[in-house]
Amino acid sequence: MIKIAFFDTKEYDKELFDEYNKKYGYEITYLESRLTSETAMLANGFDVVCIFVSDIVDQDTIKTLKKCGVKLIALRCAGFNNVDILHMDKDIKVVRVPAYSPYAVAEHAVALLLSINRKIYKAYQRTKKYNFTLNGLLGFDIHGKTVGVVGTGKIGKCFINIMKGFGANIIAYDIFEDKTYAKETGIKYVTLEELYKKSDIISLHCPLTKDNENMINEESLKLMKDGVYIINTSRGKLIDTDSLIERLEQGKIGGLGLDVYEEEEEFFLNDMSNSYIRDKDLSILLSMPNVVITSHQAFFTKEALNKIANDTCENIKDIFEKGSSINEVK
Ligand code: NAD
Repeated sequence: MIKIAFFDTKEYDKELFDEYNKKYGYEITYLESRLTSETAMLANGFDVVCIFVSDIVDQDTIKTLKKCGVKLIALRCAGFNNVDILHMDKDIKVVRVPAYSPYAVAEHAVALLLSINRKIYKAYQRTKKYNFTLNGLLGFDIHGKTVGVVGTGKIGKCFINIMKGFGANIIAYDIFEDKTYAKETGIKYVTLEELYKKSDIISLHCPLTKDNENMINEESLKLMKDGVYIINTSRGKLIDTDSLIERLEQGKIGGLGLDVYEEEEEFFLNDMSNSYIRDKDLSILLSMPNVVITSHQAFFTKEALNKIANDTCENIKDIFEKGSSINEVK
């Protein structure tokens, strides 16, 4: 029987994987700990480690997993920036779920944008207290605005679709331009510099790689329009938080919607409300009146969770039965 050590387990993971596992019969041990070099020994005797976005597979973790006899790392997410693929051991394979619901993430990016622009988070708190005033709730029409989309893959394209419905003018940047798509939809690919200069709203939908870490930094923020709205549902490290805070404090950024944060691992997806451990930058961002932060929840729809559970179980089956999977990361 294939033994799986399931790291960073949440209640909803357990419920869903137990249900799907009825078909596969894996022996799953659910662990609350995140996988790091310190916790990797917990995988001793397991064939598979199943991990999520906050687990860290660096070189030390890989060495320990190898000693533990682990043959497969099954990511139950799309992004794999938290796994050191370049230094992966030849006896350990890595699989991921490349697409579970691009709609879920794109729709959440739109939710963040609308929430900040139309001040829904403020209005909600006011009306709860029977305060029905409008001061400070002024927004703008998205119709006619220029929306810059970085990364026109599965999620970027869904986001563009929705923004087109709003009547926005779309410009995009991708290291691999999809010219057919641009022709069909009427969007325009531009340089990153042009995107920064022309966009009223910028939404990030590219993966985090060594080349684009901190792509939103002092220089790129300087190029942006005053009052720019920035939405990041991709990965926290795409943004340099110090520069971001500086520009927020100067009033340069009109609105900021984050579902991911540079140092999110210790906090996101956990209830820290009774803890004294705080992240200074995160606390500053949370205190800003024009910032809305969600806790890496963009993927969190019923459809996405079901697809994640199904595809993770299938990926494991393919590796152990056929020796390969279409979702292998190499
Ligand atoms: P995808 O592979 O379909 O598309 C990514 C696109 O980005 C591709 O077109 C690629 O060419 C482009 N790209 C790569 N490097 C780039 C760069 N340096 N600059 C500009 N474009 C670049 O991926 P996807 O399914 O659309 O997902 C995008 C990202 O969204 C994931 O990598 C992940 O980080 C993030 N994500 C977040 C959540 C969440 O819950 N917040 C959930 C799923 C995915």
